Amino acid sequence: MTATFEPTLVSCPACQGPSLYAPDNRFRPFCSERCKQMDLGAWASESFRVPTSPPLDPAGPEDLLKH
Ligand SMILES: [Zn+2]
Repeated sequence: MTATFEPTLVSCPACQGPSLYAPDNRFRPFCSERCKQMDLGAWASESFRVPTSPPLDPAGPEDLLKH
């Protein structure tokens, strides 16, 4: 059983530019660290979030995303 990750070129959610969605790109799906930070800032200030994670749950799955 082979699990090969095929890199895909996606649109950066922040700048809409080309972004490589691959293990090499640790900012994926963003194209750069700057775009990632920019988007996180937007989330914090405008509650621009995906509806899958409750924002008021301190023990939510988001904890898994933190370093
Ligand atoms: Zn970008």
